[in-house]
Formats: sequence, structure tokens, C-alpha cells
Amino acid sequence: MMKHASVVVIGGGIVGSAIAFSLLKMKTKNVCVIEKSYVSSGSTGRCAGGIRQQWSSPMNVKLAMRSVKLFEEFEKDVGMNIEYYQGGYLLLAYTDSEVDDFEKNVRMQKSQGLDVEILTSNQIKEKFPFINVEDIKLGSWCQSDGHANPQLANIAYAIAIRKMGGEFLTHTTVTGIDVQNRQIIGVQTDNGYISTKIVVDAAGFEAPKIGSMIGVDIPVHGERHQILVTEAVNHFLDPLVINFNHNYYVRQTHHGSLMMGQGDANPASGEDLGNTIEFLEEMSEKMIKDFPLLKNIHIVRQWSGAYDMSPDAQPIIDESKDISRFIYATGFSGHGFMLAPAVGESVAEMIIHGQTVTTDVSNLKMDRFTIGIEREHNVV
Ligand SMILES: Cc1cc2nc3c(=O)[nH]c(=O)nc-3n(C[C@H](O)[C@H](O)[C@H](O)COP(=O)(O)OP(=O)(O)OC[C@H]3O[C@@H](n4cnc5c(N)ncnc54)[C@H](O)[C@@H]3O)c2cc1C
Repeated sequence: MMKHASVVVIGGGIVGSAIAFSLLKMKTKNVCVIEKSYVSSGSTGRCAGGIRQQWSSPMNVKLAMRSVKLFEEFEKDVGMNIEYYQGGYLLLAYTDSEVDDFEKNVRMQKSQGLDVEILTSNQIKEKFPFINVEDIKLGSWCQSDGHANPQLANIAYAIAIRKMGGEFLTHTTVTGIDVQNRQIIGVQTDNGYISTKIVVDAAGFEAPKIGSMIGVDIPVHGERHQILVTEAVNHFLDPLVINFNHNYYVRQTHHGSLMMGQGDANPASGEDLGNTIEFLEEMSEKMIKDFPLLKNIHIVRQWSGAYDMSPDAQPIIDESKDISRFIYATGFSGHGFMLAPAVGESVAEMIIHGQTVTTDVSNLKMDRFTIGIEREHNVV
């Protein structure tokens, strides 16, 4: 374990790993990631791997578009095939108000340069004959959206970080941060001490616990979300399909299984990683109605993970006003995997240049909660 680091990143999930990778790529030396468990043990290893650019907030569209560029280069850049597949995302609208929202969002997304279109229900039937289009008014479609395997992506970053000369400590818990005159001087862990002047809090839904070690309040809480996985079947589903009205998403993995999830009406805390039979029943009923061909498919597994929820369902990326060089990237609210490459790049730029260069993320600073920002609505 190194005794001194130029930057300590707390949390070795996809966000912390992307930040450390970007710092090393920008030639920063002595970068250290500290992960309390194994690589991808947090939300990242429990996530569905969806990568979409169709958001209702322009900031999320911009960040996701930059991430897609980086995912397109991922295998070459980071060095591993992560089953990245641009099979598109299909969002389904059932009500007049959804139709208005989709049309408004598509106009905004196009203004950001995204190649996205509205599909009529007949066009949806033609393109995806296995979807029950009864009651569907229209869809929003983007071919360059897609999905990847989040565990592979997290592992790829960890391997690359070590190859590039960074340290990636697993099974090491950060227990405290030492500060003198509002400057960070070091990080305590259960495996020893590392002196540093810069700390990045990328501890997912546990980021507030890290902040509280030095009196920084981070308004994020963990919310449990469940996933169901079926047996593998022949490939038929190219896009990830999202149905906000019936409150679910579904995609087919590289190996053929279907992976699906929904938002619970009363979600449990993110600390509770249990599973419920109600989720299994509700999810299955919805699938059989909207994808009748799945009627006899077998379920093989279910699991749960935490969304790190922020008050407006958008990330919080900022440097503390009270503790110099304490930077946090959290509050991803169910979409941190897809945003991670661009967030990694932005945070690395903030550390090296004092400001972002490639993507302006200033709208994601903490002070937006006092001045107000529009909530992201396209969330399951
Ligand atoms: C069911 C489900 C489905 C999802 N689907 C998608 C999707 O399709 N697309 C998408 O983009 N996102 C999705 N997400 C969200 C995505 O998983 C998260 O936004 C993303 O993984 C957050 O990454 P992270 O690195 O911030 O957090 P994490 O992966 O949770 O990493 C944080 C790490 O910090 C470590 N840590 C915490 N405290 C300490 C400490 N004191 N010392 C050392 N280490 C510590 C933890 O062990 C953890 O590994 C989904 C999430 C869930 C739960």
C-alpha cells in the first residue's frame, strides 16, 4: 500500500474507477483507489447495464452523449470487451401527457445533436412484432443507445488502473479523513494510513458517510431496486425497452437471458439488499402482458442493489466549499453506470485544471439545491 498518494479515490465502483482511470490517462501519478470489498461489489455489480441518451434534462443528455463516445472507444482505450451493444433504446408512451413529454424531450435531445426519433405504434409493431402494442400511443427511439456488462467494465478499469501504475486496493475500508485548517492531509484505513491532499468521494449511496467524516453534508440516500433474470433464449430483443407507464425496463443480455426491473412503490432502504416475492409476481405479470412470447420462460435469479438518490434525480459533482480539495461524485439516481466514463473524465479535469474542459457539468454542483433546477423525469 502506497504511503503517499496525489489523489485518493474512495470507492472502487464504476464511478471511482472511471475517475482514477481518467486521472492516470491524463498523466497524474500516484493515484490510489480504496474499495472496502471486491471490485463491483456495490451498485455497479448489481445494475442492469443500460446506456441511454434519451433523458428529460439537457445536462443528462450531454453527459450521456459524451459517455457513449467513450463507450464506443472503451475496448481500445481500457483494454477489454465489455459486451457493449448499441441495439438502441425504445421508450413507450401510453398517455397524452407522456406523448407531450416524449415529443418535448425528443425536440430538446435533437437540439443537443442526438439522433433520436418518434415511432408510431404501427412502426413499433413493424420493428418489434413481439411487443403488445395495444394502448401504446407512440415510442421514442434512439439507435445509438445500448447496454454493456457493468461487472466487466468495472473489472476492466481496475486492471487498467493497475497496469497504468495506479494502486487499486480492495478489502480496505476508509475509516477517517484527517484535515488541518480545512486542508486534507491524509486518509485512515483499516490497513494503514495514506497521506494526500486530494480526496474524491465516490462511495455510491454511502458517499454521505464519507462526507460526514469531515462535516460535509451530501444529500443522497440509498433506495433498494430489484432485478429479475430469466433463463437464456435465442436473441430476439435488440433494444432495452423502457415503459414508464407500467414502470419497468427489460433488456436481453449477451448470453441470452432477459434482465428486467421496476421501481417499487415504497422502496426499502439501500442498506437492505433483500428480495421480495411481490416484485417477482408484479414483474412477471407485466412481462407476460406486454411481451406475450415470454409466457413460458423460466426465471432463474433475482437480486437487488441500491440507487444513490439525489433530491432531483441527477448526479451531484462538486468540490466542497468548506474542505479544500474534497470532491464528490454521487447521487446518480439509477444511471451512474452509463454516465461514469464522462463523469470520470470531468472529475479528472476538475482536479487537474480546476475546471471541466470537455463537458460542462457546472449545473450539477451542490448549490443548485438552493437556486433550483428541474428534476429528471425519465427514471424507472
Ligand atoms: C437494480 C439496479 C439497476 C440499475 N440499472 C442501471 C442501468 O441500467 N444503467 C445505469 O447507468 N445505471 C444503473 N443503475 C445505477 C448504477 O448501478 C449506479 O448508479 C452506479 O453503479 C453507481 O456507481 P458508483 O461507483 O457510484 O457506486 P458503487 O458501485 O456502489 O461503488 C461505490 C463503492 O464504494 C465502496 N465504499 C463505500 N464505503 C466505503 C469505504 N468507507 N471505504 C472504501 N470503500 C467504500 C463500496 O463498497 C462500493 O463498491 C442500476 C442500479 C441498480 C441497483
